[in-house]
Parts: sequence; C-alpha cells; structure tokens
Amino acid sequence: MMSKKGRVFSGARPTGRQHLGNYLGAIKNYVALQDDYDCIYCIVDLHALTTLDNTEDLKVCTYEMALDWLAAGIRPNDSIVFIQSHVPQVTELHTILSMVTPLGKLTDLPTFKEKVRMHPNNINYGLVGYPVLQAADITLYKANFVPVGIDQAPHIEFTREAVRSFNYHYHTDVLVEPQIKVTTVPKVLGIDGKEKMSKSLNNQIELAASPEETQARVMQMVTDPQRLRRSDPGNPDVCNVFSMHKIFSSSEEIQMVNVECRRAGIGCVDCKKLFAKNLNTDLMPFREKRTVLGQKPDNIWQILAEGDRRAIKIAEATMGEVRSAVGLP
Ligand code: SF4
Repeated sequence: MMSKKGRVFSGARPTGRQHLGNYLGAIKNYVALQDDYDCIYCIVDLHALTTLDNTEDLKVCTYEMALDWLAAGIRPNDSIVFIQSHVPQVTELHTILSMVTPLGKLTDLPTFKEKVRMHPNNINYGLVGYPVLQAADITLYKANFVPVGIDQAPHIEFTREAVRSFNYHYHTDVLVEPQIKVTTVPKVLGIDGKEKMSKSLNNQIELAASPEETQARVMQMVTDPQRLRRSDPGNPDVCNVFSMHKIFSSSEEIQMVNVECRRAGIGCVDCKKLFAKNLNTDLMPFREKRTVLGQKPDNIWQILAEGDRRAIKIAEATMGEVRSAVGLP
C-alpha cells in the first residue's frame, strides 16, 4: 500500500445485500476515504458469530456484501477488502490482549449490557470479549484512524486503552493507538418512518433491488402521520420521504416539495414517485456495475482472497513484534 495520510480500518458484519442505511451510513464514506487514506475494510464474520444462531447464510451474506461494496466503488487494487476469519492472527492477538483487559471493564460496558438485554438466552463468552476482538482487529493492522459516528466513539476508546495497557505492561510501543475519525452518520429511518433502517426489521430499501421493487418499497413509506387526506396540508419536517428527498433530489425539487407539501399542492403519492425516480436514477450506475460483477462470482472470491493475503502479510509482521514484546518463546 502506498502511504497517504495514514491507514484507516473499518469492519462490518456480513449482513448480505446492503440497504440505503448501510450505504449512507458507511459505504459512501468508505469509498470517499480511499482518496486520502490507505484503507482496510474487513468483513467481520467472527463478530457475527456472537449473536447468530444460524450460520448457514454466512457465506452468501459475505459474498453479497462484498459485491455491493465493490459495485459501490471500493477499489480492491487500492484498498484491502478481506474476511476477518481468514486471518487467524486476529484470534491470537485477541487472546494476548485479553490478558491485559480487566474483566470488570468488559462487563461494565453499556454495549455489553445492551447485548445481554437483546440476547438474554445467549450470553456467551464471545459477547463479553467482543471489544477485545475489535481491538485486535484494529491494532493488528496498526490502523491510525477508525471512522465511526460519534455514538460509536466509546468503542474505539476501549481499543485505545487496550493499546496503552499492552504497551505499558510489556514496556513496548509495538501497538499503535488509533485515532477516532468522527464521521457524520445520518440516521436513516426505515420505510416505517420510526426505526433505523435494518434488515432484521424488514424496513429496508436494498441498493440492488430492481427499479420496480424500489418504487414499491418507497410507496409503502410512512409519511407525516397528521396528513390523512390529500387535501390536508403536510409537514415535511416530520416526514421521512422529505428527509430522503434532501439526499437524492435536486435543490429545486426539495424546495418545491417543501413549499407544496405545506399547502397540499402535492400529494404523498406523487411526492414518493418523484423520490423513487430520483433514487433509481442515482442507483443506476451501482446496479449496472453490480450486474456485471455478479456475472463472475469467482472473481469476487478471488478479490477477497487477495485481500486476505495482503492482510495476513501485515498481520504476521505485527504479530512477530507482539510475540517478541510479550516474550513468547
Ligand atoms: S407530500 Fe411528501 S413531504 Fe409531504 S407528507 Fe407527503 S410524502 Fe411527506
């Protein structure tokens, strides 16, 4: 990798076909960061195991997510795109970092308590050690920056503390303390207009959906709940369709909706059709590229294998230094 402004690391669970929330919240930023940073993007399948009961879709979800990332503009010749479990050094570093991590610190984390609340029947050791594995993910590649929304910053703070603890304990400076690269992550609501867009809530609009499927999903979007009839004036400030217009429509169209909605000059059906049209236009290049890439699935796996190889090279170099610092024979 050529050195730019530093190395960025980010990981995402293999959730299959990506949706607008994934795109606006992460992928778009991944693509943009490539211009200024050496980027490492990891599909964190081991993290997914902590809460997955059923793993039979893991492979297809990994493939579909990688396909979406590449179609969206992640450049595998510049960035490293790889699968977490294919770099076994991460589990070794996880074990070593766990020795310098107080258990109480892990069980006190709000994220652990939240996971216990969400998965009361599956409180496994992996859930407790999740932040340590995340710290291993980041530090194995000596990442300088981790892009996260402000609400995720405490997770990276844990990694920074783990690095300080390791380096202090073993009198070394082998591990690099990553900086938090605060990123503006828009909260993208699902078509229900209430919850964050999520596959598990079935409120998503998939990037790879056909134009017809996209329009059908858009037509299901919940709008201003006070606007019951076409003749009622609406309030775009509380409408998720208008939030989307602000991202995908022209300034003239945004202005028009903002004015006409308030005086019932435009109905929700026409407003949604306009948004669907603009969304489909915006996604057309992505969809065309995805179709082409998807014709050769072996190429996608080869890209990931090449990413694995490049990641392993960096990981093994780090682990050589780590083992030496720890004093392992
Ligand atoms: S006209 Fe558009 S912005 Fe206004 S409530 Fe309907 S969908 Fe929302």
